[in-house]
Amino acid sequence: MAKQDLILLAIDASPVLDLMERALRASDFEVAVVRDRAGLEKSVQEAIPALMIIGEKFVGENGLSISTDMLDRFPTMPILILVERDENGMAKNVLKLGLAGYLYPPLKMQDIVDEVRRALTRARKLGDWVRREVRRTTASLEQKAKISEAERVKLEAIISNIQDGIIVLDETHHILLINRTVRDIFNLADTPVLGRSLRETVSNVDLHALLDRTREGSLKYHEVNFDDGRVYNAQFTPIPRIGGAVTMQDISYLKEIDRLKNDFIHTVSHDLRSPLTAILGYTELIERAGSLNDSQQEFLQRLQASVQHVTTLVNDLLDLGRLEAGFDTRREMVHLGNVLKYTLDVFDNQIKKKSIKLITDVAPDMKLVRANPIRIRQMLDNLIGNAIKYTPMNGRVTVRMSMQESQIILRVEDTGPGIPGDEQNRVFDKFYRASNRPNGVEGTGLGLAIVKSIVESHQGRVWVESKVGVGSTFAVLLPTQE
Ligand code: ADP
Repeated sequence: MAKQDLILLAIDASPVLDLMERALRASDFEVAVVRDRAGLEKSVQEAIPALMIIGEKFVGENGLSISTDMLDRFPTMPILILVERDENGMAKNVLKLGLAGYLYPPLKMQDIVDEVRRALTRARKLGDWVRREVRRTTASLEQKAKISEAERVKLEAIISNIQDGIIVLDETHHILLINRTVRDIFNLADTPVLGRSLRETVSNVDLHALLDRTREGSLKYHEVNFDDGRVYNAQFTPIPRIGGAVTMQDISYLKEIDRLKNDFIHTVSHDLRSPLTAILGYTELIERAGSLNDSQQEFLQRLQASVQHVTTLVNDLLDLGRLEAGFDTRREMVHLGNVLKYTLDVFDNQIKKKSIKLITDVAPDMKLVRANPIRIRQMLDNLIGNAIKYTPMNGRVTVRMSMQESQIILRVEDTGPGIPGDEQNRVFDKFYRASNRPNGVEGTGLGLAIVKSIVESHQGRVWVESKVGVGSTFAVLLPTQE
């Protein structure tokens, strides 16, 4: 084995050089002698020697600094330094620089060979250890890679078998993973999509709007509509350090049921309207047909109140149906402050009857809204009507209108019973009536649903701020147009 080991000698002093060359060759080492720095460079580039012996001084240069340079480039090559004298501090230098050892006169052939063998054995052991460690680390990395690949395949299998559509995105909305359902939804077949931007891959505007809204932070879900009538409920969930996931559920059948239900309600309400008008008409005629006793009079009044209630309900339902179907297209430039006067006129009696303190505060710089004045009136009637209806005797109702940048903000505040926190969102649902409303307060549970539809058909927003026992404020934000 030792026979193939190449020992490089970079030594000036020829008597020692000869001695070394002979001693090493005699022990079956291959020896290369270099005479200058260029020769040294050439030699190490052709074949990295198994060991190098360098003089303390080599063609005028410092052997120690040449060794340092060599060790930087070939850290596992053992280097012995040949010094003139075993001076104090040399051992320290050798250790500090990481050399394999040093030789000094008087030199015997056997000493040279022994020292070279010792350095080679040590270097070999070190090399073996490094190789073993590299093998071990590589094996462990391979194992880990195998696990994560297996995990990835497992995850992909799970995701592909989920019925809902799933898209996993990185932070810049590029596709990391997509399942078969999504491919079917967007007709992607086997188009390569991984790594591509979702926005460029899929042209659906609703999906783009969902991606835009992910920046809003609090985004929850968005409806994704298709021309053929399919509707999906899409949801974006942020995933820390990855990006996010879009999940899509087919809600076409729910939408269809909702449509059928609305059509049904609309048809029934429509068909009920004429007979109700007739009933109300005849109840009024009864009184004219002859005198009634007190009981008959009372029954008649109850009958009239009930018919009135059903008529209001039917009218509200028809209104909602029209609004939801998008039939409300009439638009004019409307001044909200002017419409407010008509609403307050209508409620004047009730305000006086309940001794309610009414405060109105309409900002002088109110801009016009492009709106349907009848619907705006209906919205104000419902909000202010509720405030008066739910506020007890001697309470206070405040109506404020002001500008917030290019939007009008309307606030209707009252000192009524307030609405419990968990019910505040639901009061805008059809037929929902809050649990703590005072006994005997009549209503259909449709007023706020109508308000919401009106506001949304004017590209606005409505919400409620309320505290039980303190009062409620209904706020509406409407965009204006000069
Ligand atoms: P309703 O015909 O019952 O008044 P709405 O749709 O107008 O129906 O309102 C829904 C529910 O919201 C009401 O039943 C009531 O519980 C609650 N609500 C609406 N306005 C107020 C208010 N100003 N103060 C307290 N509760 C209110």
